[in-house]
Amino acid sequence: MLPPSVGDAVHADLVAFGDKVAGEYLDMARLAEDEPPRLVKHDAFGKQVDELRTSEGWRFFKPQAAKEGLVAIAYENDFAQYSRLYQVVKLYLFGPSSGLFSCPLAMTDGAAFTLRQLTRRKDFESSPEIEEAFQHLTSRDPDYFWTSGQWMTEKQGGSDVSNGTTTLALPDASQSGVHNLYGYKWFSSATDSDMTLTLARSVKDGKPIPGNKGLSLFFARVKDNSGNLNNLELIRLKEKLGTRQLPTGEILLNGMKAKQLGKEGDGVRFISNMLNITRLHNAISAVSNMRRIIALARDYSDKRVAFGKKIKDHLLHFRILSWAELTFRGNLAFLLNVTLMLGRIDHGSESPEDRVLFRLLTPLLKLFTAKDAIKVT
Ligand SMILES: Cc1cc2nc3c(=O)[nH]c(=O)nc-3n(C[C@H](O)[C@H](O)[C@H](O)COP(=O)(O)OP(=O)(O)OC[C@H]3O[C@@H](n4cnc5c(N)ncnc54)[C@H](O)[C@@H]3O)c2cc1C
Repeated sequence: MLPPSVGDAVHADLVAFGDKVAGEYLDMARLAEDEPPRLVKHDAFGKQVDELRTSEGWRFFKPQAAKEGLVAIAYENDFAQYSRLYQVVKLYLFGPSSGLFSCPLAMTDGAAFTLRQLTRRKDFESSPEIEEAFQHLTSRDPDYFWTSGQWMTEKQGGSDVSNGTTTLALPDASQSGVHNLYGYKWFSSATDSDMTLTLARSVKDGKPIPGNKGLSLFFARVKDNSGNLNNLELIRLKEKLGTRQLPTGEILLNGMKAKQLGKEGDGVRFISNMLNITRLHNAISAVSNMRRIIALARDYSDKRVAFGKKIKDHLLHFRILSWAELTFRGNLAFLLNVTLMLGRIDHGSESPEDRVLFRLLTPLLKLFTAKDAIKVT
């Protein structure tokens, strides 16, 4: 899929990264899983601090992600329309050894893509703050690199955001271009992120504007430059059956300062950019975990002896492994082909069909890879 010149240029990096994910990263991922995050609500004097404590394993991955360019590669454009494919292959190697840091990276990539797509629009008024946020999200410098959250789901439910969003955006009386957001975000992953993109309901004549046309997209920093939370409270972390490494929490927005991105009422349209990227990342996770489990199963089948021979030599067992391998390969081909389309969109060399097909195929890619991953793993 890659032209030989690109393949040659990225080969050494992929091999070196492969060694890391099979070694140190795996140990750190286990550490992150063994020590789930904790929320400390108050300090010793009873002052509310809402301090998130994460494990060494979890914290290890943010600087690594920056240095390895796990988001940056797609935006550096060193390999034109193939930059995205290079990034996705690297994320594919990373996924099963990432201690689920793949989740904040998905949202970070989604936020970078959304900001980049917005700034490409003629009618979008950018600002130094937004340009700078994009630089942070796509940086390879661990001290400068930011991760982003994606705060949409509210108590009323996640799928139907146009009816479920009750968070209000009130224009700040003292600062033009700033809104104060009030609401309750019910399911926000990686609450240790530096910024977020979120939906909130605009207000007209003192009343919330109902439905889709009332929803606007907002950018907000999670903390200010002094490290104080931006008028928000971390209420609690979710008790989950899986993904326990992730600090997923409930957040009360109590006047969070935010900047509206694009026009009022365009929130769902604009955040769908982010959703398409996080769907692609979901597919990367699904496919890479299929690969990892098949690798383990094949290795085991060459070691375990039952009824006088290795289990790989039992026809029925071999048949299951073959089915898993075929299922995985079909999903991988689907993922890489959709990635190539996205690469052309990134590069600005897409055809009209690419744009339509990418929009159509991305949710299907997410659906099929997720369903098959459950069967295979
Ligand atoms: C681990 C984890 C992390 C998460 N992190 C985040 C995050 O960072 N940010 C965030 O905003 N949200 C996050 N979420 C929430 C997630 O996005 C929502 O769970 C999702 O949007 C679905 O919403 P819901 O759970 O309220 O289900 P509902 O919307 O209530 O759906 C319930 C069921 O109804 C079905 N359904 C809904 N609408 C339709 C329809 N039109 N046609 C057919 N069937 C339908 C759904 O498929 C589902 O089976 C996270 C969830 C999990 C589990």
